[in-house]
Amino acid sequence: MITRICPIDGSSLAEAKRILETGGTVAFPTETVYGLGADARSDEAVRGIYAVKGRPSDNPLIVHVHQDYDLNELVFDDRPYAKLLRDAFLPGPLTLVYKSRAAVSSAVSCGLDTLAVRVPQHAGAQRFLRYVGLPVAAPSANRSKHVSPVTAQHVYGDLAGRIPLILDGGACSGGIESTVCDVTGSSPVILREGLVTREQIAAVAGSCGVYKAKEGEQVRSPGMKYKHYAPQCKTVLFPAEELAGAVSYFAEREQAGSRIMALCEHAAASAFPAGKALDLGTCGKEFAANLYERLHEAEERCDELVAVEPRERGGVMAGVLNRLRKACGAEK
Ligand code: AMP
Ligand code: MG
Repeated sequence: MITRICPIDGSSLAEAKRILETGGTVAFPTETVYGLGADARSDEAVRGIYAVKGRPSDNPLIVHVHQDYDLNELVFDDRPYAKLLRDAFLPGPLTLVYKSRAAVSSAVSCGLDTLAVRVPQHAGAQRFLRYVGLPVAAPSANRSKHVSPVTAQHVYGDLAGRIPLILDGGACSGGIESTVCDVTGSSPVILREGLVTREQIAAVAGSCGVYKAKEGEQVRSPGMKYKHYAPQCKTVLFPAEELAGAVSYFAEREQAGSRIMALCEHAAASAFPAGKALDLGTCGKEFAANLYERLHEAEERCDELVAVEPRERGGVMAGVLNRLRKACGAEK
């Protein structure tokens, strides 16, 4: 199969619609990462997503809709605070998990009685979703377990030959996946941290929990149990307070002949040899915007990556730290 990268215009949208209506998959940009979309109502189309990605079949998908789509077609929306969250954050990088009306393929939620719905903010995503008019099931447009794509070229690198069309909307500005928040209970619970923070949700809804699976318990967000996001190079992760240890490890490995680079916050970059540090920036927002781009860069430029955690922990950095640990931590 030939994979084309096309700017978003009348002719690529018409082609995208035709592909989705015939059960195929199309990659499209959002403000977080690129998505791999298919018609959420079709079992066959949704199974196609899992096949293209090599995604485990028990990791549910998020359904994407445009801003004026009638949510009541898809879910039961009975929590007043959920409307407050939509008004405050949507369209945007926040996915809400509701009780499902079972209006889409059961393969989307992998048999769960809930459905995750997202309204992306990216103008190209909105245009695409409006044009096709369907609920579009979409995970990130990468091979399962690889780093999420933040450019059309990243998608091409992973999925060339496996999908017919990549809608190119430029580099994603947000950089990490959406916050996933369960709104089925009496107060919101974050299942996956992201660009919309626990603090922001609590300020609107009154309170907000962060779900942590207990030992032996069935996980509520199946995707969280998977080792995700890893780059192809070898990675070693150091806590922020062990910067000196990271620097001496780096020197040792470089001396031994390793093609090695560092990945760290701006303030730590000068501790490594000039030109050898991939700088993630100075705050959570910058880290999020840069993380996957730098991990893709690391794959090109080195065989081993020494990552150092940021000193900051709260806000957007909570989601960034979760992705950094999954990408570079020992527990792969
Ligand atoms: P991805 O599309 O790869 O960014 O992953 C989607 C994330 O949303 C995964 O962490 C899933 O476990 C989570 N998710 C999707 N649908 C549901 C659902 N119905 N209930 C809980 N988590 C969900
Ligand atoms: Mg993903």
